[in-house]
Amino acid sequence: MSEKRTILVIEDEHAISNFICRALSANDYKPLAAASGKEGLSLFFSHGPDLVLLDLGLPDLDGLEVLSQLRGLPQEVPVIIISARDRESEKVKALDMGADDYVVKPFGVSELLARIRSSLRRFDRLKVNQGIQRDVYQVKDLTVDIAKHQVIQGEDEIHFTQNEFKILELLAIHAGKVLTYDFILEHVWGPYGGSSNQILRVNMANIRRKLKENPSAPRYIYTELGIGYRMLED
Ligand code: CA
Repeated sequence: MSEKRTILVIEDEHAISNFICRALSANDYKPLAAASGKEGLSLFFSHGPDLVLLDLGLPDLDGLEVLSQLRGLPQEVPVIIISARDRESEKVKALDMGADDYVVKPFGVSELLARIRSSLRRFDRLKVNQGIQRDVYQVKDLTVDIAKHQVIQGEDEIHFTQNEFKILELLAIHAGKVLTYDFILEHVWGPYGGSSNQILRVNMANIRRKLKENPSAPRYIYTELGIGYRMLED
């Protein structure tokens, strides 16, 4: 793939926008800068970027409004949220609304580039598979076989309860992406499950114990404090 990928940066703070655009150019992406939500949407329609970096605090439209307009379109493009540290609940809302990932200000170039690469990879993979779900996911020495309903770690098969397996399956399918507590609860227990984060935490603790995960130095599943969980990309 020699063609440069276009990345739309919707951010009203010039210093941050310039910093991001310079980093993107230096790393073989083609940046497009918009300083407002409306300008961002119009550049989105005229240029069809491969990925959108979206600040939530914009002068005209709410960043969440921009996100919901982008999500209402047939062409799916990964959106990475640029969030201020004090806007935790907005960030979670954006992830629930289908944003792919987030970075928190101030962030470094390497972190931003890693998130971009990971989102583009995930979307490329989705496009290739065209919605066909893979059956087997591998992270390090861990294999989650969805068709066989089996989890192998090294040489050993590890047994999970039905809900524990559902959580692992969900994290594996979306490996690399942070999944919010609500997203996981709804997919595992259903919209009317009446479940709380507590039951999810208990299940996650069991999963980690069975995988001999040390929560302070995880090998497979990372905790995104106050947001949810992320499984390492395979
Ligand atoms: Ca802003």
